[in-house]
Amino acid sequence: MLRNLPSIEEVLNDSALVPVFEHFARTWVTEAVRDATEYTRKRLIDTGVKESREVLRVQIVDRAVKRLYRLRAGSLQRVINATGVVLHTNLGRAVLTPEITAHMASMTSGYTNLEFDLEKGSRGSRYTHIEPMLSFLTGCEAAIVVNNNAAAVLLALSTLAKGREVIVSRGQLVEIGGSFRIPEIMQLSGASMVEVGTTNKTHPEDYTRAISEQTALLLGVHTSNYRIMGFTESVSLEQMVNIGTEARLPVMLDLGSGTLTELTAYGLEPEPTVKQCLAQGVDVLTFSGDKLLGGPQAGIIAGRKEYIDQIKKNQLLRALRVDKMTIAALEATLARYMSPEPLKDIPVLSMLTVEEAALKSQAKRLTRMIAKEIAAAGLPCKTRAVPVIDQVGGGAYPMEELPGWGVEIAGDFKPDQASMLMRNGTPAVLVRIQDDALLLSVRTLFPWDEQVLPELIRRSLEGNRT
Ligand SMILES: *Cc1c(COP(=O)(O)O)cnc(C)c1O
Repeated sequence: MLRNLPSIEEVLNDSALVPVFEHFARTWVTEAVRDATEYTRKRLIDTGVKESREVLRVQIVDRAVKRLYRLRAGSLQRVINATGVVLHTNLGRAVLTPEITAHMASMTSGYTNLEFDLEKGSRGSRYTHIEPMLSFLTGCEAAIVVNNNAAAVLLALSTLAKGREVIVSRGQLVEIGGSFRIPEIMQLSGASMVEVGTTNKTHPEDYTRAISEQTALLLGVHTSNYRIMGFTESVSLEQMVNIGTEARLPVMLDLGSGTLTELTAYGLEPEPTVKQCLAQGVDVLTFSGDKLLGGPQAGIIAGRKEYIDQIKKNQLLRALRVDKMTIAALEATLARYMSPEPLKDIPVLSMLTVEEAALKSQAKRLTRMIAKEIAAAGLPCKTRAVPVIDQVGGGAYPMEELPGWGVEIAGDFKPDQASMLMRNGTPAVLVRIQDDALLLSVRTLFPWDEQVLPELIRRSLEGNRT
Protein backbone atom coordinates (compact mmCIF):
# COMPACT_ATOMS: atom_id res chain seq x y z
CA MET A 1 0.00 0.00 0.00
CA LEU A 2 2.67 2.49 1.04
CA ARG A 3 5.35 0.97 -1.15
CA ASN A 4 4.71 3.47 -3.93
CA LEU A 5 4.71 6.55 -1.66
CA PRO A 6 7.55 8.77 -2.99
CA SER A 7 10.19 10.19 -0.68
CA ILE A 8 10.22 13.91 0.14
CA GLU A 9 13.42 14.25 -1.89
CA GLU A 10 11.83 12.60 -4.88
CA VAL A 11 8.84 14.96 -4.79
CA LEU A 12 11.09 18.00 -4.37
CA ASN A 13 12.90 17.01 -7.57
CA ASP A 14 9.68 16.96 -9.56
CA SER A 15 10.06 19.36 -12.48
CA ALA A 16 6.63 20.86 -11.74
CA LEU A 17 8.18 22.48 -8.68
CA VAL A 18 10.84 24.39 -10.63
CA PRO A 19 8.69 27.55 -11.11
CA VAL A 20 7.47 27.26 -7.51
CA PHE A 21 11.03 27.61 -6.21
CA GLU A 22 11.13 31.02 -7.87
CA HIS A 23 8.36 32.21 -5.57
CA PHE A 24 8.96 30.32 -2.35
CA ALA A 25 11.94 29.55 -0.14
CA ARG A 26 13.07 25.91 -0.17
CA THR A 27 12.23 25.48 3.54
CA TRP A 28 8.56 26.26 2.97
CA VAL A 29 8.28 24.13 -0.16
CA THR A 30 9.80 21.24 1.80
CA GLU A 31 7.41 21.85 4.67
CA ALA A 32 4.39 21.86 2.38
CA VAL A 33 5.58 18.73 0.56
CA ARG A 34 6.15 16.96 3.88
CA ASP A 35 2.62 17.78 5.06
CA ALA A 36 1.11 16.74 1.74
CA THR A 37 3.04 13.46 1.80
CA GLU A 38 1.87 12.77 5.32
CA TYR A 39 -1.71 13.47 4.29
CA THR A 40 -1.37 11.06 1.36
CA ARG A 41 0.21 8.39 3.58
CA LYS A 42 -2.75 8.54 5.97
CA ARG A 43 -5.20 8.47 3.09
CA LEU A 44 -3.58 5.33 1.66
CA ILE A 45 -3.73 3.60 5.05
CA ASP A 46 -7.35 4.65 5.64
CA THR A 47 -8.67 3.67 2.23
CA GLY A 48 -6.35 0.78 1.45
CA VAL A 49 -6.19 1.79 -2.21
CA LYS A 50 -3.13 1.24 -4.36
CA GLU A 51 -1.80 3.92 -6.65
CA SER A 52 1.25 4.27 -8.85
CA ARG A 53 4.29 6.23 -7.70
CA GLU A 54 3.72 8.66 -10.54
CA VAL A 55 0.10 9.40 -9.59
CA LEU A 56 0.97 9.84 -5.93
CA ARG A 57 3.80 12.23 -6.72
CA VAL A 58 1.54 14.39 -8.89
CA GLN A 59 -1.11 14.44 -6.15
CA ILE A 60 1.39 15.46 -3.49
CA VAL A 61 2.93 18.19 -5.65
CA ASP A 62 -0.51 19.52 -6.51
CA ARG A 63 -1.65 19.63 -2.90
CA ALA A 64 1.56 21.27 -1.68
CA VAL A 65 1.62 23.92 -4.40
CA LYS A 66 -2.03 24.87 -3.97
CA ARG A 67 -1.51 25.25 -0.25
CA LEU A 68 1.57 27.45 -0.65
CA TYR A 69 -0.17 29.89 -3.01
CA ARG A 70 -3.32 29.94 -0.91
CA LEU A 71 -1.39 30.73 2.25
CA ARG A 72 0.67 33.40 0.55
CA ALA A 73 -2.45 35.13 -0.77
CA GLY A 74 -3.64 35.72 2.79
CA SER A 75 -7.31 35.60 3.72
CA LEU A 76 -8.25 39.26 3.63
CA GLN A 77 -9.93 40.02 0.32
CA ARG A 78 -11.91 42.67 -1.46
CA VAL A 79 -15.67 42.40 -1.02
CA ILE A 80 -18.29 44.15 -3.11
CA ASN A 81 -20.85 45.49 -0.67
CA ALA A 82 -24.26 45.47 -2.34
CA THR A 83 -26.13 45.40 0.99
CA GLY A 84 -26.75 49.14 1.18
CA VAL A 85 -25.37 49.23 4.74
CA VAL A 86 -22.84 52.05 4.60
CA LEU A 87 -20.97 51.42 7.86
CA HIS A 88 -21.01 47.62 7.73
CA THR A 89 -19.15 46.48 10.83
CA ASN A 90 -18.39 43.06 9.34
CA LEU A 91 -17.09 44.58 6.12
CA GLY A 92 -14.57 46.89 7.74
CA ARG A 93 -16.82 49.91 8.48
CA ALA A 94 -15.65 53.18 6.92
CA VAL A 95 -14.06 53.08 3.46
CA LEU A 96 -11.10 55.39 2.88
CA THR A 97 -10.33 57.37 -0.27
CA PRO A 98 -7.23 56.70 -2.39
CA GLU A 99 -5.87 60.10 -1.24
CA ILE A 100 -6.06 58.99 2.37
CA THR A 101 -4.49 55.59 1.74
CA ALA A 102 -1.78 57.23 -0.39
CA HIS A 103 -0.85 59.47 2.55
CA MET A 104 -0.84 56.40 4.78
CA ALA A 105 1.37 54.52 2.32
CA SER A 106 3.87 57.33 2.02
CA MET A 107 4.06 57.79 5.79
CA THR A 108 4.62 54.09 6.40
CA SER A 109 6.99 53.13 3.60
CA GLY A 110 9.74 55.24 5.13
CA TYR A 111 10.70 56.79 8.47
CA THR A 112 8.59 59.56 9.99
CA ASN A 113 8.72 61.96 12.93
CA LEU A 114 6.16 59.78 14.73
CA GLU A 115 7.78 60.34 18.12
CA PHE A 116 10.45 62.83 17.28
CA ASP A 117 10.40 66.60 17.70
CA LEU A 118 12.25 67.81 14.62
CA GLU A 119 12.57 71.39 15.91
CA LYS A 120 14.16 70.43 19.18
CA GLY A 121 15.97 67.40 17.85
CA SER A 122 14.70 65.29 20.71
CA ARG A 123 12.13 62.71 21.60
CA GLY A 124 8.56 63.76 20.86
CA SER A 125 5.13 62.21 21.32
CA ARG A 126 2.90 60.40 18.87
CA TYR A 127 -0.06 62.09 20.51
CA THR A 128 0.89 65.56 19.28
CA HIS A 129 0.03 64.88 15.66
CA ILE A 130 -3.76 64.85 15.56
CA GLU A 131 -4.47 67.13 18.51
CA PRO A 132 -4.16 70.58 16.84
CA MET A 133 -6.44 69.61 13.97
CA LEU A 134 -9.02 68.07 16.32
CA SER A 135 -9.12 71.11 18.52
CA PHE A 136 -9.44 73.37 15.49
CA LEU A 137 -12.32 71.31 14.09
CA THR A 138 -14.20 70.61 17.32
CA GLY A 139 -13.20 73.34 19.71
CA CYS A 140 -11.80 70.86 22.25
CA GLU A 141 -8.99 72.00 24.56
CA ALA A 142 -7.10 68.76 24.11
CA ALA A 143 -7.49 65.35 22.53
CA ILE A 144 -5.87 61.96 22.34
CA VAL A 145 -6.29 59.10 19.89
CA VAL A 146 -6.24 55.42 20.87
CA ASN A 147 -6.90 52.07 19.20
CA ASN A 148 -10.71 52.27 19.07
CA ASN A 149 -13.61 53.78 20.95
CA ALA A 150 -13.88 50.84 23.34
CA ALA A 151 -10.27 51.57 24.32
CA ALA A 152 -11.09 55.27 24.63
CA VAL A 153 -13.93 54.59 27.08
CA LEU A 154 -11.85 52.09 29.05
CA LEU A 155 -8.88 54.44 29.30
CA ALA A 156 -10.96 57.46 30.26
CA LEU A 157 -12.86 55.56 32.96
CA SER A 158 -9.71 53.94 34.29
CA THR A 159 -7.97 57.32 34.53
CA LEU A 160 -10.80 59.37 35.98
CA ALA A 161 -12.74 56.87 38.06
CA LYS A 162 -10.66 53.84 39.04
CA GLY A 163 -11.58 52.74 42.58
CA ARG A 164 -14.42 55.23 42.66
CA GLU A 165 -18.00 55.49 41.45
CA VAL A 166 -19.46 56.39 38.09
CA ILE A 167 -23.12 57.32 37.82
CA VAL A 168 -24.91 56.15 34.70
CA SER A 169 -28.54 55.89 33.68
CA ARG A 170 -30.11 52.42 33.36
CA GLY A 171 -31.50 53.59 30.03
CA GLN A 172 -27.98 53.90 28.67
CA LEU A 173 -26.34 50.59 29.63
CA VAL A 174 -25.80 49.69 26.03
CA GLU A 175 -24.27 46.77 24.27
CA ILE A 176 -22.73 47.53 20.89
CA GLY A 177 -22.21 44.78 18.32
CA GLY A 178 -18.93 42.95 18.73
CA SER A 179 -19.23 42.69 22.52
CA PHE A 180 -18.82 46.23 23.82
CA ARG A 181 -20.90 46.47 26.99
CA ILE A 182 -20.84 49.47 29.27
CA PRO A 183 -21.09 47.42 32.53
CA GLU A 184 -18.20 45.19 31.45
CA ILE A 185 -15.96 48.02 30.30
CA MET A 186 -16.72 49.72 33.61
CA GLN A 187 -15.65 46.64 35.54
CA LEU A 188 -12.45 46.32 33.52
CA SER A 189 -11.61 49.95 34.22
CA GLY A 190 -11.77 49.37 37.97
CA ALA A 191 -14.55 51.90 38.45
CA SER A 192 -17.76 50.87 40.13
CA MET A 193 -20.97 51.59 38.41
CA VAL A 194 -23.88 53.25 40.14
CA GLU A 195 -26.98 52.72 38.06
CA VAL A 196 -29.74 55.27 38.35
CA GLY A 197 -33.24 55.58 36.97
CA THR A 198 -35.04 52.85 35.09
CA THR A 199 -34.81 51.51 31.56
CA ASN A 200 -37.36 53.97 30.23
CA LYS A 201 -37.14 56.90 32.67
CA THR A 202 -34.33 58.75 34.35
CA HIS A 203 -34.81 62.10 36.13
CA PRO A 204 -32.25 64.73 37.17
CA GLU A 205 -32.92 63.88 40.85
CA ASP A 206 -31.83 60.31 40.18
CA TYR A 207 -28.36 61.64 39.49
CA THR A 208 -28.25 64.17 42.31
CA ARG A 209 -29.43 61.62 44.87
CA ALA A 210 -26.74 59.15 43.79
CA ILE A 211 -23.87 61.61 44.15
CA SER A 212 -21.63 60.90 47.14
CA GLU A 213 -18.05 61.33 48.34
CA GLN A 214 -17.19 58.32 46.24
CA THR A 215 -18.47 59.73 42.95
CA ALA A 216 -15.79 60.35 40.35
CA LEU A 217 -17.85 61.26 37.32
CA LEU A 218 -21.18 61.26 35.57
CA LEU A 219 -21.29 59.16 32.45
CA GLY A 220 -23.67 59.58 29.56
CA VAL A 221 -23.80 57.04 26.74
CA HIS A 222 -25.27 57.91 23.41
CA THR A 223 -27.77 55.12 22.77
CA SER A 224 -26.62 54.87 19.23
CA ASN A 225 -27.98 51.52 18.16
CA TYR A 226 -31.47 51.48 19.65
CA ARG A 227 -34.28 53.75 20.78
CA ILE A 228 -36.61 53.40 23.70
CA MET A 229 -40.00 54.57 22.55
CA GLY A 230 -43.21 55.48 24.32
CA PHE A 231 -43.34 56.40 28.02
CA THR A 232 -39.79 57.69 28.32
CA GLU A 233 -37.82 60.44 29.90
CA SER A 234 -34.14 61.04 29.95
CA VAL A 235 -31.86 63.67 31.35
CA SER A 236 -30.61 66.02 28.66
CA LEU A 237 -26.96 66.68 28.14
CA GLU A 238 -27.49 70.22 29.37
CA GLN A 239 -29.09 68.98 32.60
CA MET A 240 -26.28 66.50 33.14
CA VAL A 241 -23.67 69.20 32.65
CA ASN A 242 -25.51 71.43 35.15
CA ILE A 243 -25.62 68.65 37.72
CA GLY A 244 -21.94 67.96 37.16
CA THR A 245 -20.97 71.62 37.45
CA GLU A 246 -22.94 72.01 40.67
CA ALA A 247 -21.38 68.92 42.22
CA ARG A 248 -17.94 69.74 40.80
CA LEU A 249 -17.82 66.45 38.96
CA PRO A 250 -16.67 65.89 35.39
CA VAL A 251 -19.23 64.76 32.85
CA MET A 252 -18.15 62.20 30.31
CA LEU A 253 -20.11 61.27 27.21
CA ASP A 254 -19.54 58.20 25.08
CA LEU A 255 -20.86 59.47 21.79
CA GLY A 256 -20.14 56.28 19.87
CA SER A 257 -20.42 57.42 16.29
CA GLY A 258 -19.06 60.94 16.47
CA THR A 259 -20.12 63.29 13.69
CA LEU A 260 -18.17 66.40 12.87
CA THR A 261 -20.74 67.71 10.39
CA GLU A 262 -24.47 68.30 10.41
CA LEU A 263 -26.25 65.89 8.10
CA THR A 264 -29.80 67.08 8.75
CA ALA A 265 -29.88 69.03 5.47
CA TYR A 266 -29.69 65.68 3.69
CA GLY A 267 -32.72 64.24 5.40
CA LEU A 268 -30.95 62.48 8.28
CA GLU A 269 -32.23 62.82 11.83
CA PRO A 270 -30.43 65.40 13.94
CA GLU A 271 -27.51 63.87 15.84
CA PRO A 272 -25.38 65.97 18.18
CA THR A 273 -22.04 66.84 16.61
CA VAL A 274 -18.80 66.60 18.58
CA LYS A 275 -18.51 70.37 18.55
CA GLN A 276 -22.04 70.86 19.89
CA CYS A 277 -21.51 68.38 22.74
CA LEU A 278 -18.28 70.07 23.75
CA ALA A 279 -19.90 73.51 23.51
CA GLN A 280 -22.60 72.28 25.88
CA GLY A 281 -19.93 71.67 28.47
CA VAL A 282 -19.13 67.96 28.28
CA ASP A 283 -15.72 67.51 29.91
CA VAL A 284 -14.65 64.29 28.23
CA LEU A 285 -16.07 62.98 24.98
CA THR A 286 -15.26 59.67 23.28
CA PHE A 287 -16.09 58.54 19.75
CA SER A 288 -15.00 56.20 16.96
CA GLY A 289 -12.75 57.06 14.03
CA ASP A 290 -14.36 54.61 11.61
CA LYS A 291 -18.04 55.27 12.07
CA LEU A 292 -19.65 58.50 10.86
CA LEU A 293 -16.30 60.26 10.96
CA GLY A 294 -15.33 58.11 7.98
CA GLY A 295 -11.71 57.43 8.91
CA PRO A 296 -9.61 54.51 10.12
CA GLN A 297 -10.36 52.40 13.19
CA ALA A 298 -9.52 54.64 16.13
CA GLY A 299 -10.95 55.98 19.36
CA ILE A 300 -10.84 59.69 20.01
CA ILE A 301 -10.98 61.26 23.44
CA ALA A 302 -11.58 65.00 23.28
CA GLY A 303 -12.26 67.43 26.07
CA ARG A 304 -10.75 69.53 28.81
CA LYS A 305 -6.99 69.66 29.00
CA GLU A 306 -6.87 68.87 32.71
CA TYR A 307 -8.51 65.47 32.10
CA ILE A 308 -6.76 64.66 28.82
CA ASP A 309 -3.43 65.38 30.55
CA GLN A 310 -4.27 62.82 33.22
CA ILE A 311 -5.25 60.32 30.54
CA LYS A 312 -1.94 60.87 28.77
CA LYS A 313 -0.14 59.77 31.93
CA ASN A 314 -2.06 56.53 32.42
CA GLN A 315 0.17 53.47 31.91
CA LEU A 316 -2.73 51.72 30.21
CA LEU A 317 -2.30 54.10 27.27
CA ARG A 318 0.83 52.21 26.27
CA ALA A 319 -1.26 49.12 25.66
CA LEU A 320 -3.95 50.97 23.72
CA ARG A 321 -1.77 53.24 21.64
CA VAL A 322 -2.36 53.89 17.96
CA ASP A 323 -0.03 52.92 15.20
CA LYS A 324 1.46 55.36 12.69
CA MET A 325 -0.80 53.96 9.97
CA THR A 326 -3.82 55.06 11.96
CA ILE A 327 -2.36 58.47 12.71
CA ALA A 328 -1.57 59.01 9.03
CA ALA A 329 -5.02 57.91 7.87
CA LEU A 330 -6.79 59.90 10.57
CA GLU A 331 -4.93 63.13 9.88
CA ALA A 332 -5.64 62.76 6.16
CA THR A 333 -9.33 62.13 6.91
CA LEU A 334 -9.61 65.11 9.26
CA ALA A 335 -7.84 67.30 6.69
CA ARG A 336 -10.69 66.52 4.30
CA TYR A 337 -13.15 68.09 6.74
CA MET A 338 -11.42 71.38 6.04
CA SER A 339 -12.15 71.17 2.32
CA PRO A 340 -15.03 73.23 0.87
CA GLU A 341 -17.01 70.05 0.22
CA PRO A 342 -16.18 67.46 2.87
CA LEU A 343 -19.28 65.49 1.95
CA LYS A 344 -17.78 64.79 -1.46
CA ASP A 345 -14.31 63.99 -0.17
CA ILE A 346 -15.26 61.46 2.50
CA PRO A 347 -16.83 58.27 1.09
CA VAL A 348 -18.99 57.56 4.16
CA LEU A 349 -20.50 61.03 3.99
CA SER A 350 -20.98 61.02 0.23
CA MET A 351 -22.67 57.61 0.39
CA LEU A 352 -25.02 58.89 3.10
CA THR A 353 -25.90 62.13 1.38
CA VAL A 354 -26.08 61.11 -2.28
CA GLU A 355 -29.34 62.21 -3.90
CA GLU A 356 -32.00 59.62 -4.51
CA ALA A 357 -32.24 60.63 -8.19
CA ALA A 358 -28.56 59.80 -8.64
CA LEU A 359 -29.05 56.39 -7.04
CA LYS A 360 -32.02 55.78 -9.30
CA SER A 361 -30.12 56.44 -12.49
CA GLN A 362 -27.18 54.40 -11.17
CA ALA A 363 -29.56 51.49 -10.49
CA LYS A 364 -31.08 51.79 -13.96
CA ARG A 365 -27.67 51.77 -15.59
CA LEU A 366 -26.56 48.73 -13.61
CA THR A 367 -29.84 46.98 -14.35
CA ARG A 368 -29.25 47.40 -18.10
CA MET A 369 -25.70 46.09 -17.81
CA ILE A 370 -26.79 43.03 -15.81
CA ALA A 371 -29.83 42.36 -18.04
CA LYS A 372 -27.62 42.38 -21.12
CA GLU A 373 -25.15 39.93 -19.60
CA ILE A 374 -27.92 37.62 -18.39
CA ALA A 375 -29.76 37.70 -21.74
CA ALA A 376 -26.57 36.89 -23.65
CA ALA A 377 -26.12 33.82 -21.47
CA GLY A 378 -29.75 32.80 -22.04
CA LEU A 379 -30.59 32.75 -18.34
CA PRO A 380 -34.28 32.74 -17.36
CA CYS A 381 -34.14 35.80 -15.08
CA LYS A 382 -35.84 39.16 -14.87
CA THR A 383 -33.97 42.27 -13.81
CA ARG A 384 -35.41 45.63 -12.79
CA ALA A 385 -34.47 48.75 -10.89
CA VAL A 386 -36.40 49.01 -7.61
CA PRO A 387 -36.56 51.38 -4.65
CA VAL A 388 -34.83 49.94 -1.56
CA ILE A 389 -34.27 50.90 2.05
CA ASP A 390 -30.59 51.33 2.95
CA GLN A 391 -29.02 51.72 6.37
CA VAL A 392 -26.33 53.85 7.95
CA GLY A 393 -25.04 50.91 10.04
CA GLY A 394 -22.23 50.90 12.58
CA GLY A 395 -24.68 51.43 15.38
CA ALA A 396 -25.52 54.90 14.13
CA TYR A 397 -28.97 56.21 13.30
CA PRO A 398 -30.83 53.05 14.38
CA MET A 399 -34.21 54.22 13.15
CA GLU A 400 -33.04 55.79 10.00
CA GLU A 401 -34.30 54.29 6.77
CA LEU A 402 -32.37 55.69 3.88
CA PRO A 403 -34.42 55.65 0.70
CA GLY A 404 -32.20 54.16 -1.98
CA TRP A 405 -32.27 52.22 -5.23
CA GLY A 406 -31.18 48.79 -6.24
CA VAL A 407 -31.30 46.04 -8.83
CA GLU A 408 -33.70 43.17 -8.30
CA ILE A 409 -32.94 39.86 -10.00
CA ALA A 410 -35.72 37.30 -9.94
CA GLY A 411 -36.23 34.07 -11.85
CA ASP A 412 -35.91 30.37 -11.91
CA PHE A 413 -33.08 29.98 -9.42
CA LYS A 414 -32.55 29.49 -5.70
CA PRO A 415 -31.65 32.91 -4.24
CA ASP A 416 -29.88 31.33 -1.23
CA GLN A 417 -27.59 29.36 -3.45
CA ALA A 418 -26.97 32.22 -5.87
CA SER A 419 -26.04 34.50 -2.98
CA MET A 420 -23.73 31.80 -1.57
CA LEU A 421 -21.99 31.50 -4.95
CA MET A 422 -21.62 35.27 -5.15
CA ARG A 423 -20.12 35.33 -1.66
CA ASN A 424 -17.59 32.74 -2.72
CA GLY A 425 -16.63 34.43 -5.99
CA THR A 426 -13.59 36.58 -6.63
CA PRO A 427 -14.15 39.28 -5.67
CA ALA A 428 -16.83 38.24 -3.20
CA VAL A 429 -20.19 39.97 -3.51
CA LEU A 430 -22.60 40.49 -0.62
CA VAL A 431 -26.23 40.95 -1.61
CA ARG A 432 -29.60 40.95 0.08
CA ILE A 433 -32.38 38.45 -0.54
CA GLN A 434 -35.89 39.83 -0.55
CA ASP A 435 -39.13 38.20 -1.76
CA ASP A 436 -37.26 35.27 -3.31
CA ALA A 437 -35.12 37.61 -5.41
CA LEU A 438 -31.59 38.95 -5.22
CA LEU A 439 -31.40 42.62 -4.31
CA LEU A 440 -28.31 44.72 -4.94
CA SER A 441 -28.25 48.19 -3.41
CA VAL A 442 -26.24 50.64 -5.46
CA ARG A 443 -25.49 53.13 -2.66
CA THR A 444 -22.47 51.19 -1.42
CA LEU A 445 -21.07 50.29 -4.85
CA PHE A 446 -18.00 51.85 -6.43
CA PRO A 447 -17.63 52.45 -10.18
CA TRP A 448 -15.16 49.55 -10.48
CA ASP A 449 -17.62 47.27 -8.66
CA GLU A 450 -20.21 48.00 -11.33
CA GLN A 451 -17.78 47.01 -14.05
CA VAL A 452 -17.30 43.49 -12.70
CA LEU A 453 -20.75 42.83 -11.20
CA PRO A 454 -22.61 41.72 -14.35
CA GLU A 455 -20.13 38.94 -15.03
CA LEU A 456 -19.99 37.84 -11.38
CA ILE A 457 -23.77 37.67 -11.27
CA ARG A 458 -24.01 35.73 -14.52
CA ARG A 459 -21.46 33.19 -13.29
CA SER A 460 -23.24 32.60 -10.00
CA LEU A 461 -26.61 32.23 -11.75
CA GLU A 462 -25.10 29.78 -14.26
CA GLY A 463 -23.64 27.75 -11.42
CA ASN A 464 -27.11 27.66 -9.95
CA ARG A 465 -28.97 26.28 -12.92
CA THR A 466 -28.56 22.53 -12.47
C1 LIG B 1 -19.57 51.82 18.45
C2 LIG B 1 -19.64 52.25 19.85
C3 LIG B 1 -18.62 51.91 20.74
C4 LIG B 1 -17.44 51.07 20.35
O1 LIG B 1 -16.63 51.76 19.46
P1 LIG B 1 -15.44 50.97 18.69
O2 LIG B 1 -14.77 52.04 17.90
O3 LIG B 1 -16.12 49.96 17.84
O4 LIG B 1 -14.57 50.37 19.72
C5 LIG B 1 -18.74 52.36 22.04
N1 LIG B 1 -19.79 53.11 22.45
C6 LIG B 1 -20.79 53.45 21.60
C7 LIG B 1 -21.95 54.26 22.12
C8 LIG B 1 -20.75 53.04 20.27
O5 LIG B 1 -21.73 53.37 19.43
